[in-house]
Amino acid sequence: LRAFASGSIPDLASALSSPYADIERAEGKLARKQISSCVRAQGDPWTHLGYLARDPDSVVPTWLDFCVSWRDEALSGARTLADWIRRFNLLMAGTPWLAACSGSGLVAKRDSAAQDAMVRSLLVSQLLGDSTRKLTLGEFVAHCEGRWQNDPYTIRSQTGVRVSTTPAGIGDASIVIALGMLEGRFPSRRAEDPILLDRDRDWLRQARTDWRLPSSYDRAAEDRREFYRVACAAPKIVFSYPLNFGETPEIRTSYLDELEADGITPSYTVKRYEDRFPKPHPSLSMSDLLGAQAWHDDETFDPGELVAHKQGQLRQAAGSASDALIANPEIKREMSALPLPLRLAHLRSLRQCPFQYFARAKLDLRSARPRWAWDCVANAVRKADVSADSADALRSNLMAALEGELSGWRGKAPQHELELVRVAAPKALSAFAEREISMRQKWGLRIKGQNVTLGEANLRSSVPLGGYSLNFSERIDVLYEREGTSDVAQLRLGRTRQSGPAGDPEFDLETSIITFLSKGQAERLSIVDSLESGQRLISPRSVSGGVSKLKNSASEGLFVDPSSDPLATLKSDFVEQLNGLLAIASRGDLTATPGVYCQTCEYPALCRQAQSSEVGSAQWGFDEE
Ligand code: SF4
Repeated sequence: LRAFASGSIPDLASALSSPYADIERAEGKLARKQISSCVRAQGDPWTHLGYLARDPDSVVPTWLDFCVSWRDEALSGARTLADWIRRFNLLMAGTPWLAACSGSGLVAKRDSAAQDAMVRSLLVSQLLGDSTRKLTLGEFVAHCEGRWQNDPYTIRSQTGVRVSTTPAGIGDASIVIALGMLEGRFPSRRAEDPILLDRDRDWLRQARTDWRLPSSYDRAAEDRREFYRVACAAPKIVFSYPLNFGETPEIRTSYLDELEADGITPSYTVKRYEDRFPKPHPSLSMSDLLGAQAWHDDETFDPGELVAHKQGQLRQAAGSASDALIANPEIKREMSALPLPLRLAHLRSLRQCPFQYFARAKLDLRSARPRWAWDCVANAVRKADVSADSADALRSNLMAALEGELSGWRGKAPQHELELVRVAAPKALSAFAEREISMRQKWGLRIKGQNVTLGEANLRSSVPLGGYSLNFSERIDVLYEREGTSDVAQLRLGRTRQSGPAGDPEFDLETSIITFLSKGQAERLSIVDSLESGQRLISPRSVSGGVSKLKNSASEGLFVDPSSDPLATLKSDFVEQLNGLLAIASRGDLTATPGVYCQTCEYPALCRQAQSSEVGSAQWGFDEE
């Protein structure tokens, strides 16, 4: 580098006597002579050096031609340190220096450590210095000399650790560390295969001697052989097991007792939880060193400039990660704009947790994983033809739709949840069919459409509110008309967490909104059907306050909303609630608020708050997520 900066050809020639130049001693001597002759050549000696390096008859190494081009480029202008570091890496790659440091001997290890320290040292100065400052080649070389003069370097002596899941994969090893040596895990508990019991296996083996059908005893014997294979795999074996899991004590594998009974006395060491990280030491890798420092918080240890800088960065990042305020006004404006069209699902998520609203309305994200097992049943109802006239016909339509739905959800929902749905859904759908047919007869309703848009249901799709025009885009699950009147009733399938005919307050708002969107009819009927609780609630509202006398039929799960607030009251409640929600949305502060809704939230894997809250982590098992 010095030769490049000073332009001294003799300095460059002297570099060829270095062992890193990868040239034979005699050849090196001749090459140095040829290079020195460039000084006497006509014109620029560096250009002449380039010719020589490209000349097949000369002994000057070809990589010097690369050096000449590198220098030309380097002299063409000032650059930031980051740019110089990139170029320095290129230079290293173009010379034999990298290859000379890549062997496995001690010298190569030392050279590689020194090379690593040189690059790291430049990176540290880049991190600490003014990143916009530009340096000429001469300044860069002076900077390198200043940094490298007294920089220490550490030879890392870590050897490889091979991870194997079978004794056969261990191979040649000086030490084997076997983890999880717990009773019930290794050996696993002897258990018969419930599909083919030991007795039947014996019988089949007698019938066909070429069939290999190991019994639970054969598998247990194989487990034991595996253990002894591990025990013989290396001169030194460490069997390790946790003493307890949480509050529960664990039992070490009985094989260890067998060893003792065979006269082998292991030595036992208890490693405490506090010892999980090694003590900080310069030979550790950067990440281990950061972990060790954070764990032990050893103030007497000097981690070095780079690690200290990284520590500072991590602390700063951790500090700002919990700062949920959005400083950028443009992003804030973007966050506070209402989605168009607004959906009831947006309002629901906003009520439950602003971060849910952010994920759904702003990022337009939906989880591939079903939110709730009952959604599967509700979807089956939505997809089935519900216009059948008898409960039996309706039931069979629903069951066919359920099968289709379940097969679509396979692989997306946890298997145990699907099994639960498979067991519980037929009963729920059967009750739905009964309820549906009874309702039509009792309340005089006839199906007019299914899965209809607001427009098709003769409902408004936009509402003026406080200077906004809110556009809703919803679908009505089933639309009915009232026999002998012009009234229509709309049914929506809802998940109600609270049992009882009063329904779910979450859902009430949505029902009010849908009711409010009605136009023209003297009476507006809105029906919520909860598949989980097997109940259906009808809310009749009229402009005047007088509503039709519909009757409860508790045995059939049909309930009439006792409240008969006139539409005007409903409207003012609804407007008040809506205004409150819109105020939250337009503040643009969509911070997560963990709580009971975390249990059914679609976004726990995105939400840091949930991951640190007990509700979220217990419910979702974030390790798996
Ligand atoms: S997991 Fe909880 S806190 Fe996080 S977005 Fe969902 S409801 Fe909000």
